[in-house]
Amino acid sequence: MRFKKLFPSSLALVATLSLAALASAAVPTVVILGTGGTIQSKGDTRMTRYDYRAGRFDITEIIDLIPQVKDLANLEAEQYTNIGSPSMTPEVWKGLVEKINEKALRSDVSGFVITHGTNTLEETAFFLHLTVQTDKPVVVVGAQRPSTSISADGPMNFYNAVQVAASPDARGKGVFICMNQQINSAREGTKTSAYKVEAFQSRDLGFLGVVDPDGVHFLRAPVRRHTYLSEFDISDISEFPRIDVIPSFADASGDIVDFVVGAGAKGLVLAGHGAGGASPAQGDAFKAAISKGVPVIASSRTGSGRVIESSRMTESGIVAGDNLLPHKARILLMLAVASGKTDREELKRIFDQY
Ligand code: ASP
Repeated sequence: MRFKKLFPSSLALVATLSLAALASAAVPTVVILGTGGTIQSKGDTRMTRYDYRAGRFDITEIIDLIPQVKDLANLEAEQYTNIGSPSMTPEVWKGLVEKINEKALRSDVSGFVITHGTNTLEETAFFLHLTVQTDKPVVVVGAQRPSTSISADGPMNFYNAVQVAASPDARGKGVFICMNQQINSAREGTKTSAYKVEAFQSRDLGFLGVVDPDGVHFLRAPVRRHTYLSEFDISDISEFPRIDVIPSFADASGDIVDFVVGAGAKGLVLAGHGAGGASPAQGDAFKAAISKGVPVIASSRTGSGRVIESSRMTESGIVAGDNLLPHKARILLMLAVASGKTDREELKRIFDQY
């Protein structure tokens, strides 16, 4: 009664409508960009992941399998491409970056989820981490088991990834790999197991946070430059340079180095033994490559720990890759070379800052 006296019915209607508008404006929009992989695959049996084909489901079909996800956010889904991640290329990465940058300008969009095959997922994630120009969360997610297998992990991984993309706490922390309830930074997160569900880990550093039954919880944040604080603007780059990773092992020859330089490599990353070590023959081949203007970054095949500049590296002109895994150092070097930053001091700065 009292309410009616204060608000005649037409005013009450307007008030109700505005509240409804406010409530729907508060529901975040999460943009989903599907790229394929096991998370979008179908198996021939419900048991295995041996007989399956990646990229069989469209992303909207996956979302329909998990109706609960629609309660978390307004989902705007697009099947950007539908490939297995071994076929991923820098050209696809560039297209994703352009899409994310454009949609991130919309105030209703709170974040992004990219579905991806797990094999090269961490490379895409790190490329985006270094190049998207937004503080809105970008979450890259995959699955270890096909969507038709028993105990498929994809649906829960996807549900959790949407929660992270919609979470205000995820802002400003760069790009994430979110699987098995764990939120890893794109810089360190890496696939550590061929088949186990707990595949993605950050080794020495641990994950940034978790998605538990009570939601998203961050425990720490990355401190290196990324996303909106990165200097890498790829809008004018039409071709990405060839960068090769060269493994070292006992008695390795320099032939692979000589070959890839001859084939047009514009930069090399050594996946060295120990703290970035190479055989004497490789050392000579690297020196020759550097004298031809091909920069060389030293990283470690051990999978953890930092590579720091040794006197041998100083003498030959090799740059230490810090704790970046070889395939991640390759992406940072690719962006540096594509931006014309090949000078040794400049590369040292870049590998210190990212
Ligand atoms: N072969 C798959 C891919 O990387 C593996 C996966 O998605 O887990 O596309």
